[in-house]
Amino acid sequence: MNKPSRTTWKQELSSRLKTAAQFAARFGLAPLTLASLESRLAFGLTPYYANLCEQEPALLRSVLPSPLELTSSPFELQDPMVEERDSPVPCIVRRYPNRALFLLTPHCPVYCRYCTRARKVGKGEHKLGKAQWQEGLDWLKEQPQIEEVILSGGEPLLLGDSALGWLLGELARLPQIRFLRFSTKAVATLPQRITPGLAKLLGRHQPLLLNLHFVHPAELTAEVALALSRLRKAGVMLASQTVLLQGVNDDPQTLAALFKGLYGLGVRPYALYLCDWITGASHFRVGPTRALELMGELRQSLSGVMLPKLIADPPGGKVDLATAPEPGEGGVWLTNWKGERVFWPEP
Ligand code: SF4
Repeated sequence: MNKPSRTTWKQELSSRLKTAAQFAARFGLAPLTLASLESRLAFGLTPYYANLCEQEPALLRSVLPSPLELTSSPFELQDPMVEERDSPVPCIVRRYPNRALFLLTPHCPVYCRYCTRARKVGKGEHKLGKAQWQEGLDWLKEQPQIEEVILSGGEPLLLGDSALGWLLGELARLPQIRFLRFSTKAVATLPQRITPGLAKLLGRHQPLLLNLHFVHPAELTAEVALALSRLRKAGVMLASQTVLLQGVNDDPQTLAALFKGLYGLGVRPYALYLCDWITGASHFRVGPTRALELMGELRQSLSGVMLPKLIADPPGGKVDLATAPEPGEGGVWLTNWKGERVFWPEP
């Protein structure tokens, strides 16, 4: 591994590529083609992650806007997990009785082109700030069954330390909330965000788990190793989630290198997700049959502690594909935690 770079997270954010013209100039593409994609999902790329993408084309595929996003296929939805239905106030999504998602911001340092919340992220009209967080806290106060809060977004670690400290402090005052989890891609796209001060702040609120979004072993750099070591030393629990993406990581060698690399850095691989049925992501989707084959191949080279669960996330809640899906016409039938059968099509 090279030595970690010396830029700060704020410098990385202020020098991001954010427009079709900037993407076009950096990657040699036609700006007009790109501009038509901006309304689907904002553009964003930190200089740090842009350098990684230049070295690894698979990673570039995951963040480079593509005209393929303009095609949509049957079964695709703007809100594939039907989160809007399960949202009692703008910053909360509750899909299970005992836990709730708390959305802190619609913004991200880097926009992944397969994002499940493409309908919301990077869009100015979806405002999330102190007024909405307070509304979320007030709602949580009235929910004695909720014992776990998952802080997400957008990218929850885009908030500054004082805003995060305030929110974590307010959550700590709710006696029923016993577990905190962040769902974050910042360690991969903006590892400079994990400053000693932030690691210390997160470490004060244990038990707290960071579920880290990584898709490729090229993301495991010296900067990431430093960030993870700070978090571990502060006592933060670390797990990972990966989306299975065609042309990015859908081969056993890449996935095995990613999961072994994460484990070696102190991160327990937790979930490998099938790409959701988000509109405009058909070029990323790998079907359940191929995904199960890949899991079989991974079992030959990974020990059980390094092997994540294969998970689909249809409306109604996550399904672990270890509970053998039932073959159907053009897809498989899955059974969710409520015992409901849900159809998951093959791409
Ligand atoms: S970091 Fe997460 S929320 Fe942001 S674009 Fe990527 S997948 Fe979506």
